[in-house]
Amino acid sequence: MIKVFTKTAAYDYKTLKPIIFEMIDAMGEGLVPEQSRVLIKPNLLLPANPETAILTHPHVVRAVAEYVLSKGARPLIADSPATGSFEKIMQEGGYYQALKDLDVDFKAFKKSVKIDIGQPFGRIEIAEEAVEADVVINLPKLKTHTGMFLTLGVKNLFGCIVGLRKTKWHLRSGVDRDMFARLLVQIYRAVNPAITIVDGILALEGQGPGKSGIPRHLGILVGGRDACAVDMAICSVLGVDADELPTHKAAKILGLAGDAVYISGDFNIVQNFKLPDTAPLTMGPKPLQRFMRKHLLQRPEVDDLLCKLCGECRKYCPAKAISQEAETIDFDYDGCIRCYCCIEICPHGALRATETAGGRVLRKLSILK
Ligand code: SF4
Ligand code: SF4
Repeated sequence: MIKVFTKTAAYDYKTLKPIIFEMIDAMGEGLVPEQSRVLIKPNLLLPANPETAILTHPHVVRAVAEYVLSKGARPLIADSPATGSFEKIMQEGGYYQALKDLDVDFKAFKKSVKIDIGQPFGRIEIAEEAVEADVVINLPKLKTHTGMFLTLGVKNLFGCIVGLRKTKWHLRSGVDRDMFARLLVQIYRAVNPAITIVDGILALEGQGPGKSGIPRHLGILVGGRDACAVDMAICSVLGVDADELPTHKAAKILGLAGDAVYISGDFNIVQNFKLPDTAPLTMGPKPLQRFMRKHLLQRPEVDDLLCKLCGECRKYCPAKAISQEAETIDFDYDGCIRCYCCIEICPHGALRATETAGGRVLRKLSILK
């Protein structure tokens, strides 16, 4: 059975560093060979400070970078943010400060190379650095995700799709959540990280993974060589059924995940972790689905008091379903594919996924799929 490691931890660097070193050593020998080019891939979604629990904490990134350097390897820290400049993310997230005395490079992914991730997607563009690295170390943040339930080890690798190419994939998957999950798993399989460590010390619950989520202290790191197994172990920690995680279901279909993992380390099952309500993306008989999607399906809504009309959601929306009026933003719920990218990237936490009253009633009556 695949082994996953859990450790209680805090961000105090003196105690955190030995915990991370021990965790990686426990995963096996020679994972980071001397002179190897190592890509460290944290979650650098958007400019945010560590207290918001949106990004992988800079001390976790630093400890892993130090581990890589201690092995005589060459670390590069990189990601492709959804919004905001990489410079601002490094500054606001505290990474420049945390890494200033280390010999590490950092950059935003810019160039892609095409690789075959398997059918039905075929050859897709993935960040050059992720493809060419000798070793990839995956450092996700433990967060809820309004569209995909949780964002953990497997989903973090979607950041290896550069810039707005991500929106193309959202659009291509449309309202098919299972298809999008399959894409995420196949990207994970192609990038093939040697190590995954999920930062769950300060996690995000509620309507994550952006500023609409709520930080929650869990005090835990979860790591292993297999991100599918790590994600499963986190489901156990949170007391949720892994089959609720679309990427886990897809990984099982692809033969990359089983029904159980061996968890080495202590953890207490987290009580009352606030999970997002991931309502169905399609409903009713086929001829009526479009009508029902427009009028009854859960959908993004704006809080006009919080919205600063910055236009980021409109720019990012893969379906071009957001328009900006003089004093508010407006949604075309017919065109909206419910990817919830807008909620993820809103810099002001002004968007929420809201189920319509009619949709809630029908779902409770099990009329909807
Ligand atoms: S909802 Fe958020 S991202 Fe969209 S315009 Fe308002 S503040 Fe900007
Ligand atoms: S409006 Fe939001 S949820 Fe709908 S397609 Fe655009 S980004 Fe996705």
